[in-house]
Amino acid sequence: MIETLRKIVQAVSEADDLEQALSLIVHEVRQAMATDVCTVYLSDRATTRLVFRATEGLNRDKIGAFSLARTEGLVGWVATRGEMLNLEDASAHPSFQLVPGLGEERFNSFMGAPIIHQRDLLGVLIVQQADSRRFSDDEEAFLITISAQLAGIIAHAEVSGLAALPDTSSKTITRIVGVAGSPGIGIGEGVFVSPTADLAAVPSRKAVNRKAELRAFRAALARVRDDIEIVSDNLKHELSAEDHALFGVYLNILDDSTLGGEVASLIKSGEWAQGALSQVLLTHIKHFERMEHSYLRERAVDVRDLGTRVLTYLQDDSENRRDWPEKTVLIAEEITASALGEVPRDHLVGVVSLRGSANSHAAIIARGMGVPAVMGAADLPYSRLDARTLVIDGHNGRVYINPPQEVLRRFQQLVDDDLALSEELSVLRNEPSQTLDGHNVPLWVNTGLTADLPRALESGADGVGLYRTEVAFLLRDKFPSEEEQRQLYREQLEAFAPAPVTMRSLDIGGDKSLPYFPISEDNPFLGWRGVRVTLDHPEIFLAQIRAMLKANEGLGNLRILLPMISAIEEVEESLALIQRCHDEVVAEGYTQKFPPVGAMIEVPSAVWLTDALAHRLDFLSVGSNDLTQYLLAVDRTNARVADMYHGLHPAVLGALAKICRDAHQRSCPVSICGELAGDPRATPVLIAMGFDQLSMNAASLPRVKKVLSSVTLGEAKAVLEQLSGLHSVKEVKLLLDELMQRRGLERYVRPGQERTE
Ligand code: PEP
Ligand code: MG
Repeated sequence: MIETLRKIVQAVSEADDLEQALSLIVHEVRQAMATDVCTVYLSDRATTRLVFRATEGLNRDKIGAFSLARTEGLVGWVATRGEMLNLEDASAHPSFQLVPGLGEERFNSFMGAPIIHQRDLLGVLIVQQADSRRFSDDEEAFLITISAQLAGIIAHAEVSGLAALPDTSSKTITRIVGVAGSPGIGIGEGVFVSPTADLAAVPSRKAVNRKAELRAFRAALARVRDDIEIVSDNLKHELSAEDHALFGVYLNILDDSTLGGEVASLIKSGEWAQGALSQVLLTHIKHFERMEHSYLRERAVDVRDLGTRVLTYLQDDSENRRDWPEKTVLIAEEITASALGEVPRDHLVGVVSLRGSANSHAAIIARGMGVPAVMGAADLPYSRLDARTLVIDGHNGRVYINPPQEVLRRFQQLVDDDLALSEELSVLRNEPSQTLDGHNVPLWVNTGLTADLPRALESGADGVGLYRTEVAFLLRDKFPSEEEQRQLYREQLEAFAPAPVTMRSLDIGGDKSLPYFPISEDNPFLGWRGVRVTLDHPEIFLAQIRAMLKANEGLGNLRILLPMISAIEEVEESLALIQRCHDEVVAEGYTQKFPPVGAMIEVPSAVWLTDALAHRLDFLSVGSNDLTQYLLAVDRTNARVADMYHGLHPAVLGALAKICRDAHQRSCPVSICGELAGDPRATPVLIAMGFDQLSMNAASLPRVKKVLSSVTLGEAKAVLEQLSGLHSVKEVKLLLDELMQRRGLERYVRPGQERTE
């Protein structure tokens, strides 16, 4: 069954459009289950009717022309209940109805399975048979499995199919739903950056200069030929003559008279080199994979390998000569910090990532840069978006493809409104960070990219609550030297001096993997992360701390922060290493005091150790992003569970209150530097709990300051009191929204929220 399933899923996922995918599904399922009929009904989004979309065994003339109401017949029964139906005699069922003209009269047995994607009914998959028989348990299991597998493919194909349709004059708006990653609206041209050397991820694109593309292809081919000849030579004496002959086969595949020639002629007809290579090779790979003979099937692997090698050279070449559109919307399967860093800042208007969620680090960096982002847009037909006009709605997590002019105008209005709001709030820049009744709560910024500095400084922040040192590491191709780090850190410390700058030691692992130090684990968020890595690699930690201390010379505004602390021993070991570094730099002639050292509270064990940590350290800082994911057991990067990830969950709020209480009992200051600190709706709650500083991305700071300066501490404390009796996120949000409304602050909480469709 698994093999058949795999074959079907693969064939369907390679289909060119939805119609082809559906025909393949009905054909393959009918064959695999040896039934007389297989049919797919799909739900029409506009009318919610179930449309007869594909069949083998019934009247094909009715395809697209016939539909059922959501409650009609056996199909409607399956759709409304979202349950499987297995009948030996369909006509005996109370919901049975015979539709004239479909050709169902002969068929007695019926089995239908709902096709559901993310709780949404997409359609119904049906098999029918003339014999009166109940389908077996195995057959039931097969139909359920295949409909579950196909749901994702159909959802994706539905969107891809639509994406081929709209042009700027069309009234149909293609809208992809993702997760809000970074607020704001971006309007620009899509540029898909494929993961390196993935043939299946190369978009189709028109060649700007066919001759240049052909030259690039030939050059890449020649380089691969050279590589193979070298390998072949090296292995001459190691392999049998027969095995060695395989290299000859490899070289032949690339020959002009075979695949090489096909690619070249596609380029001549106007496709760019990478697209032509991908299209030709994927067709051949598919062909080989379908062969019955295992030896020939294996050749698919060789062709893929060769294609990947050629693609690598082509991509190397094109990276070097890439022209970014003036308004670039960067699209990738998984946006990385380096991809973000590659596009010139003044060209980048939006980011779309197929994977990840609001608290993935790419989203956090995008927020820091003030670039709208949509994450987890898994259904995006990315390979067809290149060079299309896109609107990124980072407030609501939506992407619009080729929207008509009037919709573009409305979005442009929202962009203008956002700008006007920023202007309005800029007057607060030099105002003190205090409540209406004069209670002072310093607002700090989170930084990472050097390019963030001007923005962070302009925000009027009172200090840096979190400098994510790993961002600089992520942008390099090897560990930066101690001296390189010193210069980098000096820049940060100097820019904000005399205000404090909190530098976090390297926090890699989880969703932050260095290309030159890959960490591959089944469960990375529970694995080798943060301080666990650096304590296992003291040479990395020591170089970093020494660089920080040296950078601090003459300034004295450095604070060191330890990430992912889950046990006291980690603090003790880290303190001993920091002490060693301090002794060393002092011995080298530097003159400075031992800097304040703090720990992040971002795992549940640290919450319970707050008292012990507060006793040993100079300050604490709550990483609410990780704390939320660990307390709620919701992966912060997984779009599928994104709607269960809530910083305002009563359990999270309870933990935050406890941390504040325990830290203050030891007179230890405690700040919060997770994204919750930048959510203006949470501001009254956090100040009422007693956080000594709130640290956030620069873009959120003006809005948080607006809310802070519009409420009194007493009012905030009263709200916190009320919150303690609430047990659901919905109630918490309602209460906070009411407060915002009472104070006329709604537009600062979620600007641009108005839906445009
Ligand atoms: C956090 O976990 O809240 C935090 C600030 O650290 P990061 O988001 O970098 O994991
Ligand atoms: Mg964290």
